[in-house]
Amino acid sequence: MKPRALAMLLWVSSFWSACGIVEQSRMRHPSEAQRIIYFKGSPSALLNGTTLEPDLMLPRAAASMPAYALNSIEFVSAEEATVDVSSQTGIEADNKNWDTLTPPQELLRFSIKDSNLWLTKDGTEEPILVFQENPSDGTWKLSTWQNADVEILHASVSPDASMLSFLFRLKVGESLFAIYLMGNEVVRDPPAMVDRRYKYTAGDGFPVGYRANPLKLDLCVDKYDAYFEAAIIAWSHWKQSQTYSEAYIGNTLVLTEWLEQYPPFSDVNTRCIYAVDAYDFSSAPSSYVGGTTIVNLNPFSWEMAHSAVLIPKVVYGNSVRYAATDELIHVMEHEIGHMLGLGHQFERSEQTGEYLYPSVMSYGDVGVQPYDFEALEKIYGVRP
Ligand SMILES: [Zn+2]
Repeated sequence: MKPRALAMLLWVSSFWSACGIVEQSRMRHPSEAQRIIYFKGSPSALLNGTTLEPDLMLPRAAASMPAYALNSIEFVSAEEATVDVSSQTGIEADNKNWDTLTPPQELLRFSIKDSNLWLTKDGTEEPILVFQENPSDGTWKLSTWQNADVEILHASVSPDASMLSFLFRLKVGESLFAIYLMGNEVVRDPPAMVDRRYKYTAGDGFPVGYRANPLKLDLCVDKYDAYFEAAIIAWSHWKQSQTYSEAYIGNTLVLTEWLEQYPPFSDVNTRCIYAVDAYDFSSAPSSYVGGTTIVNLNPFSWEMAHSAVLIPKVVYGNSVRYAATDELIHVMEHEIGHMLGLGHQFERSEQTGEYLYPSVMSYGDVGVQPYDFEALEKIYGVRP
């Protein structure tokens, strides 16, 4: 089947979670799809330690899918903002330069021309990337278009070809783009629960998680870094186990592995915790961003198709390098919660103002709570 139906698809689910950032959790129109994350320094620092594989030949099965859903994220260096981190007192929203930090948002769009898939900047006819079909064997190859000012860094496809990802860099300004395409199957509503007290990535009472069992989660940090130790401890709290490599969340077996060499965060076949050597300016000004979790939900199956946790080594507005402290462990616990499918739990008592449900997914300073395990059991079943 030719991908003609592509023009009518372009649904997007873009879910963005971070400490300090209000969660985005609803179906989005494609024009809203793009998210921009600002980094102090080069966005390329996100790729430190990763192995890039830019060549991707789409298999026939993937190319014959009728359509894809698109989600994209842009990482932009904000270095030109000349923010003196050492003098920052804490709150990004107080930064008078914030408005001038924001570059014009350029949306990327897919379209069909001459039976090929094209990726263009919004409002222009000039393509950036193109998937060109080889008529002889039906495969598609991703390549840059002529003199397009872009470099493909990494591409990945899930084993069942239901999800594709591309990571590329615009040479001017060194913006980094991650694009995720999800197979367009039958669109359905997310499965809702009667009890909306539990907060998930797709919203209140929509228990979205991974269907895979075992579930494989990885650590993509230096084994001799404080981050490694903190991640192990954070994992052990979630799994209520000191076992590093094998444990259960609900009735789902979770296998954890340390990867010495690993693909970048955009890779759809790796669910990893990354330590990024950069400041996170965040997509919305806020007082403090300790970590960020990229989550891609498949809007057709409502499964979590992909996620990655990014923990900056230096926190903007704080200018303190993490040590293997309780704070770092706490941030990792929170982000792992997002990775597993949990949203923020901010409900408070009207009388006292206290959090109604103590949870690591609030912005309090408590670790993983019974509520959090209950929420996960709605996704992953009851512990054996
Ligand atoms: Zn969060």
